[in-house]
Amino acid sequence: MTNKFDITRLPETARNFGVYIDGEMRPALSGNTTTRQSPAHDIAVTEIAKCAQDDVDIAVASARLAFDDRRWSGQSGGVRAGVLLKTAGLIRERLEEIAYWETLESGKPISQTKGEVAGCADMFEYASGLARSLHGDSHNNLGDGLFGIVTREPVGVVGLITPWNFPFLILCERVPYILASGCTIVAKPSEVTSATTILLAEMLSEAGLPKGVMNVVTGSGSTVGQALCAHESVDMISFTGSTAVGRNVIRASGDTNFKKLGLELGGKNPQIVFADADLLDAADGVAFGMCFNAGQCCVSGSRLLVERAVMSEFLALLKAKLEKTVVGDPLDAKTQIGAITTSAQNQTILSYIQKGQEEGAQLSFGCGAVKTDAGQFVGPVIFENVTPEMEIYKDEIFGPVLCVTPFDDVDEAIAMANDTKYGLAASVWSKDIEKVLRVSRRVQAGRFWVNTTLAGGPELPLGGFKQSGWGREAGKYGVEEYTQIKSVHIATETREHWIP
Ligand code: NAD
Repeated sequence: MTNKFDITRLPETARNFGVYIDGEMRPALSGNTTTRQSPAHDIAVTEIAKCAQDDVDIAVASARLAFDDRRWSGQSGGVRAGVLLKTAGLIRERLEEIAYWETLESGKPISQTKGEVAGCADMFEYASGLARSLHGDSHNNLGDGLFGIVTREPVGVVGLITPWNFPFLILCERVPYILASGCTIVAKPSEVTSATTILLAEMLSEAGLPKGVMNVVTGSGSTVGQALCAHESVDMISFTGSTAVGRNVIRASGDTNFKKLGLELGGKNPQIVFADADLLDAADGVAFGMCFNAGQCCVSGSRLLVERAVMSEFLALLKAKLEKTVVGDPLDAKTQIGAITTSAQNQTILSYIQKGQEEGAQLSFGCGAVKTDAGQFVGPVIFENVTPEMEIYKDEIFGPVLCVTPFDDVDEAIAMANDTKYGLAASVWSKDIEKVLRVSRRVQAGRFWVNTTLAGGPELPLGGFKQSGWGREAGKYGVEEYTQIKSVHIATETREHWIP
């Protein structure tokens, strides 16, 4: 069901997407749908199936059967790798189409979505190697009477719940690794950005993935997401989203079958700039870290901790960079900051901009909402004189809003970086290797960048310390996360009898 499209133009009609269950696209059992409007253009772009508990039950039953009859987990790593590699090829072939629907639903710039989709093909290629190399351990030093083997087995049926800020990227940081392990999947994308998850299910089938191994249900978090988290036939939930909903996921698992959980949650990530850094490089990095994806990024560098001695000079460089950012139509190849994905998120950002001023922080750059003919856009904003008791210092704003606080020495910078309930990511800018290492050892964050920010790839794991989550995705850990370990004890001599 590929509609005709030209990635520089808006679609004439909304494209219809069903759910994907047991190898085929179909409507929700109720026949209900919701319409998604482009947050940048205010026109209907997709029609998405609105599932309920009965759809979730069918999708889970399909994934359960596909796991239990071993149609996927019983295949060799080589066969699994073949499907993942073919999928990578299909993603590259359909790159523009995927990027287009992703941009229309999310509002993110088309140049960015194209880059993200290419990165997703990389994920599939990398994970195909993991499918082949996944292995356990042997213990040959237990004495002549015993031999031990440690095996890794797939966890089972994985419920995969994803957010709206990186719909295809976050999906592809998980799906190939889950499939490499031999698990089966029921995915539940965000209700506002579901299209590209359905496209991936279609491509996986085309690449030869057996029916029932990848299923997708769409609809609201409180109905469909909750049903998946509470389902007795689901063995694991991989959840990416807010810390608040993460708590619900933990409760639902505890109230039912103690599912294994992987949680990737929020962040309030520091960018630490020392006086000895290349300040122009750092200014560009800080601008990118705060504005990428309009700040709707879990690893957004939303707190600037800057050495007091260079604060004025650094802020002047940063503002000069931000003056040049291009905000606007995400289908324009030149755009760097697209639309805010939901009107609720737009309101949240604007209310934090208001709150920051009421709390006494100084709004020293930007104003917030950018006027356009259609859609909702927010330009870069800097708050100075931000102190630790302020809400804008503590809360994840999820918009292009930077909170600036000065420090005087390394210990103070580290203490301030760690002064948050989150621990997702941090960046440091300095030319002093000893200082960089000291900071990298002591800052509590799952991802740490030195003289760069938001860098990454399939080889490096993702995940958070503290309330930013549990577990790791991607890298070799990404596949191990979806396995469980069994130790097999084999007697190699007749046991001495317990009862003579
Ligand atoms: P969200 O928590 O509102 O929703 C995430 C997903 O959970 C959606 O699919 C939603 O439908 C579903 N959901 C909602 N209520 C549910 C429930 N009761 N039970 C089960 N599922 C439910 O998050 P969002 O607004 O889509 O995304 C923004 C948040 O995600 C931010 O806090 C951001 O930091 C976080 N995030 C984290 C990472 C990471 O890797 N750490 C990546 C991206 C986003």
